Amino acid sequence: MPKDFLQGARDHYDCVVIGSGLAGLTAANTLARSGQSVLLLEQHYKLGGMATWFKRPGGHIFDISLHGFPFGMVKSCRRYWTREIADSIVQLKNIRFDNPMFSLTTTFNRDDFTRLLVEQFAIPAATVRAFFDTARGMNFFDDQSTTVGQLFERFFPGRQDVIRLLMEPITYANGSTLEDPAISYGIVFSNFMSKGVFTFEGGTDRLIKLMHAELLRSGVDVRIKCDVEKILVREGRVTGVRVNGREISARSVVSNSNVKTTIFHLVGKEHFDRTFCQDAEAVRLNNSSCQVYMALKPGEELDEGLGDLLFSSTAPLFRTDLLLSRNVTSRTFSFYYPRTRPGSNRSLIVSSTNARYQDWADLSAEEYEASKQDLVETTLDALAKYVPDIRAKLDHAEASTPLTFRHYTKHMEGASFGTKFEGLAVSRAIPQQIGGLYHAGSVGIIMSGWLGAMNYGVIVANDVDSWLMKTGSPQTSPTATVL
Ligand SMILES: Cc1cc2nc3c(=O)[nH]c(=O)nc-3n(C[C@H](O)[C@H](O)[C@H](O)COP(=O)(O)OP(=O)(O)OC[C@H]3O[C@@H](n4cnc5c(N)ncnc54)[C@H](O)[C@@H]3O)c2cc1C
Repeated sequence: MPKDFLQGARDHYDCVVIGSGLAGLTAANTLARSGQSVLLLEQHYKLGGMATWFKRPGGHIFDISLHGFPFGMVKSCRRYWTREIADSIVQLKNIRFDNPMFSLTTTFNRDDFTRLLVEQFAIPAATVRAFFDTARGMNFFDDQSTTVGQLFERFFPGRQDVIRLLMEPITYANGSTLEDPAISYGIVFSNFMSKGVFTFEGGTDRLIKLMHAELLRSGVDVRIKCDVEKILVREGRVTGVRVNGREISARSVVSNSNVKTTIFHLVGKEHFDRTFCQDAEAVRLNNSSCQVYMALKPGEELDEGLGDLLFSSTAPLFRTDLLLSRNVTSRTFSFYYPRTRPGSNRSLIVSSTNARYQDWADLSAEEYEASKQDLVETTLDALAKYVPDIRAKLDHAEASTPLTFRHYTKHMEGASFGTKFEGLAVSRAIPQQIGGLYHAGSVGIIMSGWLGAMNYGVIVANDVDSWLMKTGSPQTSPTATVL
């Protein structure tokens, strides 16, 4: 008999949350804390979505998306999670850039960037100040027609080197391009510039373990290996979900699945009006990623002078299409020293590159394996510039591709950061189409990344809470049925 992962689950909840990415986890926790009954359903065998890790023989633990997030995480974790989680957030002090235009190390905050722009790039201090103030002053309701490229041209005309310094990390952080609205850049850049780049001490496994414990304390019914097949809708209102062959009713549903998957696969376009479907169809997915995970032999050390994050590139100019190309010229190396997981003697390196799903999707099994191996070897070659004896120190290396991300999270085309900017308006408009149905998860650059996803979970949880209050007292009957 296959295991019943829904054993003991009730037939009805105030809210079902589909997916345990950081938005889904935070929405579930916030709703349960405000007294709603919540069922959290995750199709994978572990919680976290893209905020994940994996283990390999020899005691190696690789983090997938723990490269850096803004200081705002401390406040969000303290408010919506626990003090222990918030107190485990620590700064990464050495962020490095190495490319044909410049090599430098920075703490990646406003003071240090101002120093660099004035002293090393010879930009007048008043221009730097005006740029930072403009970026900081942007909000979601601003003019959305100005592009990132135009914003840079206004302050730093013709300065490709400055654009590279300001843009390259943000492109890695959320896939944004020079053609995206300036607002998306301004908000994310300013978030980082407030205090620098931060990480979670103890690794993603510890974070998700602490979150899981808190969800249980808050009263969330947490279920893994529960793949939601359908969101049930009747007469313009959500009524529940079908999962693992069972129907569970709910007064509200929050989908943390990709917004396009939610609309077109989990619900079905017949439940939405035509204009909404056209808008949703037009939403562009964000790019995906390739990574190479490298573990050093136990006890082997990395020189901390390598920094925590290294944006390395051999491309003469910064161009978004070059960042996505199969012919990789740019890599972000994350160096994980033993202090990442205090008490361990392990040093690991993860190399990340933005990538296109289409470049990997149609390869034969042999070509796919050969391409992955090639990615590992070329990455080791590139890394040898910084860690000359890397091959001698290496214990384990392997690669992931856009297909890997799609496999584990079910994101269309393995999108690392959900959708482009226009996805946010579509995500926000879902409840006007179907009463009680919400989406929370990576959309539109601002609402992606660890901080964006988590905060979006809170915003949506508050919307759901209002909906539940407005639409009457919770049904608690354990015998409530669907449809
Ligand atoms: C390689 C890489 C590096 C990154 N680096 C950083 C970084 O350094 N800093 C940063 O801030 N962000 C980073 N990110 C982005 C960040 O990890 C994500 O934006 C964020 O974690 C996404 O959270 P989310 O809530 O949108 O959900 P996701 O993480 O996308 O999770 C969605 C969840 O829904 C589940 N699901 C989907 N469909 C169903 C279904 N039908 N039934 C049940 N469950 C379902 C999936 O299994 C998954 O668990 C990185 C991402 C990648 C891929």
